[in-house]
Amino acid sequence: MQPASSATATHCPYCALQCGMNLARAGRSLAVQPRYFPVNRGGLCQKGWSSTELLDHPERLKMPLLRDAKGRALRPASWDEALERIVSEIRSAQASFGPDAVGVFGGGSLTNEKAYLLGKFARVALRTSHIDYNGRFCMSSAAAAAIKALGLDRGLPFPLADIPHTEAILLIGSNAAETMPPVMQYFDAQRANGGSLIVVDPRKTPTAQAATLHLQITPGTDAALANGLLHVAIRQGYLDEEFIASRTNGFDAVRRIASSYWPDRVERITGIPETQLFQAARLLGTAATAMILTARGSEQQSHGVDNVLGFINLALALGKAGRAYSGYGCLTGQGNGQGGREHGQKADQLPGYRRIDNPKHRAHIAQVWGIREEHLPSAGCSAYEMLDGLGTDGGVRALLVFGSNLAVSAPRARHIEKRLDALDFLAVSDFFLSETAERADVVLPSAQWAEEEGTMTNLEGRVLYRRLALTPPPGVRTDLQIVSELAGRLGCAFSFPAEPGAIFSELRRASAGGAADYSGITYDRIERENGLFWPCPSEDHPGTPRLFLDCFATPDGRARFHAVEYRGACEQPDREFPLYLTTGRVMAQYQSGTQTRRVPKLMALAPRAFVEIHPAMASAYQISNGDRVRLTTRRGSATMAAQLTSTIRLDTLFVPFHFAGGERANLLTNPALDPTSRMPEFKVCAVRIEKEEF
Ligand code: SF4
Repeated sequence: MQPASSATATHCPYCALQCGMNLARAGRSLAVQPRYFPVNRGGLCQKGWSSTELLDHPERLKMPLLRDAKGRALRPASWDEALERIVSEIRSAQASFGPDAVGVFGGGSLTNEKAYLLGKFARVALRTSHIDYNGRFCMSSAAAAAIKALGLDRGLPFPLADIPHTEAILLIGSNAAETMPPVMQYFDAQRANGGSLIVVDPRKTPTAQAATLHLQITPGTDAALANGLLHVAIRQGYLDEEFIASRTNGFDAVRRIASSYWPDRVERITGIPETQLFQAARLLGTAATAMILTARGSEQQSHGVDNVLGFINLALALGKAGRAYSGYGCLTGQGNGQGGREHGQKADQLPGYRRIDNPKHRAHIAQVWGIREEHLPSAGCSAYEMLDGLGTDGGVRALLVFGSNLAVSAPRARHIEKRLDALDFLAVSDFFLSETAERADVVLPSAQWAEEEGTMTNLEGRVLYRRLALTPPPGVRTDLQIVSELAGRLGCAFSFPAEPGAIFSELRRASAGGAADYSGITYDRIERENGLFWPCPSEDHPGTPRLFLDCFATPDGRARFHAVEYRGACEQPDREFPLYLTTGRVMAQYQSGTQTRRVPKLMALAPRAFVEIHPAMASAYQISNGDRVRLTTRRGSATMAAQLTSTIRLDTLFVPFHFAGGERANLLTNPALDPTSRMPEFKVCAVRIEKEEF
């Protein structure tokens, strides 16, 4: 490792909060130092504090690996040999099966520059429609709902700094106290100012414990709760009729649907007592300002878009949107979950949040890329659908993966492993030999966050600059260099720069005039101004911290209500699988664990998977704390230790999804997709639990 010459101001590599930090020389290594940045205000969680431990980790990949034939072991290879193998496999697959035989799978932790270049590489160099990314598993339901109702998807339409000034918050399906602890300072300040926080979660998480009111919902019943709250709001006279009349369309149909969500019916569906339903409606309905925030708990469902639309309906009906200190927002999860969905690595999308099926959008991007519009492919299929078809007739035969560990993070993981193994060719770019990279034919060692510059867009829509603190170790290349080199070796005549600044300049031009307009954002401005909120259409534009204050982003400027019914999760408990299973994160691990499972300090805190079970339910199964248990769903089985806790619903089990092998939560999860967002139903399925007998 080559130490930096002095402290470098940068951001944490993990979650969407993108906490500011300094990296300072500490002997031969880099140490994390706190930095006051307007998002985290000096705070960091355990993951951020230990993030530099991965830079010189002994398991770091520092040379390409190559498998000569199926069944043979990976062996070291030169960059030239590895890249030539990829190029020859791409040519072979496309010669036999056409351009769509090659797929690209990106990630929500990649910088904006990488997301942009990958999208361009897929459409221009490979001419394939098959590109999607793991953000489809993360934020796509909230994004789809926000676009339908508000005309625009930006996680939060206001800065975090507004949270302490709102009177009431409804937070659905987020355990922010564990997933992004520094954000809790805003919620703590809100309550210290006399505000109320209502948390909806099947578990009494640390976030729920900090709340004014905890609604311990039955998994998968979010839309019933949203309609029930609206029913009470109508009955109690909490509606803002003037706002509904002047700034929205479509309320009558929603009012009709809400009328049938009587509190006793909602209690039977959701398990939330009527008294709490009235209390929550009163806190929201009588507050002068309120925010409604969703996260993965309500979004990762086969009706996740409907769930979010139900909560947006509530915000609109109460007049708590498009006003200062009020609004609907989504707490984005992945580091660049926001920017990663704006610049073209999504199957249906082009840079600047443009749509690939819109002729005007296609023409603009074709002009920036210097290609003919008719040469742009059409929309491909979503992440799970692409994975489900790997190696099949008409499916992807050669797959390139950047920044994603599908063997752990995709639902129905055993099936996905089989599909990965059915590929003619798999290449993975990563900095560790992840469970997905282990199955690859070529593995490319890529640079880590501190070893490259670029931009990230945090959960507020604030574009941030990630500075170069170190040069990558010898033998390691950046993803941008890899993509640029591949495009060149494929003989692509169009420009694929490897330098982040050049790519960002092109991204700015590509995004100009789009919904996510970055054209006024420069690296210098980001540094000077502590980040810039998009849209920012010119270099003298101040950016847009608060959206929708004058009008919504729909064609007529009015927000749209959507009448949604509660339809329930695809799987309900039955005699064979009598309990609900839900999944999520713990504080000391991150996503598929490729990084955090290699940090000793974090492993000491959270070394293995476990299943949370209520003591009364454990007793019924004669399970004691620490017993090994087997969980079984219609997808498969996983074994882990039982952790007894009265903080979970009696009918629900919880498993964190960071762990690999036979402890994988995603061996169990249901790939049922939301019809609009194509988001899998990670958050609820039916499960059986048995004590392992030895
Ligand atoms: Fe990093 Fe998120 Fe922790 Fe901040 S909250 S230090 S961004 S993992």
